[in-house]
Amino acid sequence: MSTVKLTGIAASDGIAIAPVYLLTEPDLRFETKQTEDSQAEIARLEAAYAQAITEVSKIRDIAKESLGAEEAQVFEAHLLVLQDPEFTDQVKNHIETEKVNAEAALHQVSTFFINLFAGMEDNPYMQERAADIKDVSERVLAALLGVKLPSPATIDEEVIVIAHDLTPSDTAQLNKQFVKAFVTNIGGRTSHSAIMARSLEIPAIVGTKNVTEIVKDGDVLIVDALEGVVLVNPSQDEIAQYQEKAAAYDAQKAEWEKLVAAPSVTKDGHHVELAANIGTPKDVKGVLENGAEGIGLYRTEFLYMDASDFPTEDEQYEAYKAVLESMDGKGVVVRTMDIGGDKELPYLTLPREMNPFLGYRAIRISLDRTDMFKTQLRALLRASVHGNLRIMFPMIATLAEFRSAKAVLDATKAELVKEGVAVSEDIQVGIMIEIPAAAVLAHQFAKEVDFFSIGTNDLIQYTMAADRMNEQVSYLYQPYNPSILTLIKHVIDASHKEGKWTGMCGEMAGDQTAVPLLLGMGLDEFSMSATSVLKTRSLISKLNLTDMQALADKAINECTTAEEVVELVNAAVEAANA
Ligand code: PEP
Ligand code: MG
Repeated sequence: MSTVKLTGIAASDGIAIAPVYLLTEPDLRFETKQTEDSQAEIARLEAAYAQAITEVSKIRDIAKESLGAEEAQVFEAHLLVLQDPEFTDQVKNHIETEKVNAEAALHQVSTFFINLFAGMEDNPYMQERAADIKDVSERVLAALLGVKLPSPATIDEEVIVIAHDLTPSDTAQLNKQFVKAFVTNIGGRTSHSAIMARSLEIPAIVGTKNVTEIVKDGDVLIVDALEGVVLVNPSQDEIAQYQEKAAAYDAQKAEWEKLVAAPSVTKDGHHVELAANIGTPKDVKGVLENGAEGIGLYRTEFLYMDASDFPTEDEQYEAYKAVLESMDGKGVVVRTMDIGGDKELPYLTLPREMNPFLGYRAIRISLDRTDMFKTQLRALLRASVHGNLRIMFPMIATLAEFRSAKAVLDATKAELVKEGVAVSEDIQVGIMIEIPAAAVLAHQFAKEVDFFSIGTNDLIQYTMAADRMNEQVSYLYQPYNPSILTLIKHVIDASHKEGKWTGMCGEMAGDQTAVPLLLGMGLDEFSMSATSVLKTRSLISKLNLTDMQALADKAINECTTAEEVVELVNAAVEAANA
């Protein structure tokens, strides 16, 4: 019998072979039954509670060990609910008075409390308790029904996680030591869980459409996230073949590692800056290990997403200071928070939107909620004396937005100076170019900003009108489409004309087919997942700037499709390697 093969979008490089861990919604349906034997139901309930307490204690211990005390907090709260006699007594009472089975009594009592607490809109603490009761009741119900609940934080053997989708916060919970890869039904290369997988160095394939329907717990998979292929229950021969491929990939990585201290220069001596993208101060370790020359994008929204309330000015200051100090004078581009799109805050309830990527997001929120924005800017400005800080605003569409954001920054700086707080005099202020309107008017923006950083993840989705999260339209994520190349070239030229620089922090900056073109177009800084830095340095060292300039000109002026551009680049890279 031949092996079942699935394909998807390769989102984070690597090869893994391990059994499946299904992270899907469990089936917790039950029947309400009338029963006279209340004592037997109460005994079942007590046994289910005891099992749930054992499970949650184990989850708490593993989470503490692998993810830290803060991430484990939520499980402490669950234990408190499980051990609260008031709640259990009510369920027992219900079993006796209503003469129903334990499942029905538990469901009725927990639904009553969940609705009661969730409705306390001016009491966020009690609202959070509603979520705890829901989680805990599901666990007790699962124990009553004999159903296993998945829990990523407790994974303690090597597995491949299979899910319909993973949110950025699910992804943050995966322990790289045991999770060898993940595969999802939906998502695109630039969805934030894919971006995080790259910084965690977990191989990932997204957008397979139906992996959760095809594989079962216990199946063994080969995940080839270099090609975007999944093999279900492979033969011994296939396993041997992929073990060989994995070893060759490791050997290639070892070659790249030799370039960790080398400069990023082309064969004909042109230097570009290779920087890395980070989401948290912890990521700086990977940046330094991979020899990046700076940080081209610090996505500060993860600081907000990891917390249970808005991070305070001091908490933010500590994070920014830590990053600036560790980078020891190298440039650090910190982007003000970009909440919205696929990044939500549990404590900031925003109205449901039809098109979150076109909605209330990033600078639009910051300019509306200036209290929040100023807290972030104060923290950044205070941290500026600890390194080489560059501040960047996300999702700028108009010059008016940039001017407003800059005015808030200047006013915040003046306040701090008046308070006698030291602030660096040398902070560059730039914008993301990720909305076509800003790209088109780059020549006007270039007169007022210090730098641009092109966010191709959004720029491509907005230019092609193709949702970056939707695998059905992922064929339109076309970095090499001449339309995208033309926009990028315009932005780079516009900045140079005003003596400014342009970087790129979208995923395209580390794309090995795009790099020769970007080099030829004159891009000054390439910022990517830390794990892509060394292979990009290796590629650049084999190319001549003058050849790449001719290549980029040809791609923009003569090619009509992305495919033609790819052909052209492949031929040029082959010639350079010959
Ligand atoms: C981008 O849009 O290219 C970008 C770098 O920002 P984000 O992926 O966080 O939207
Ligand atoms: Mg973006």
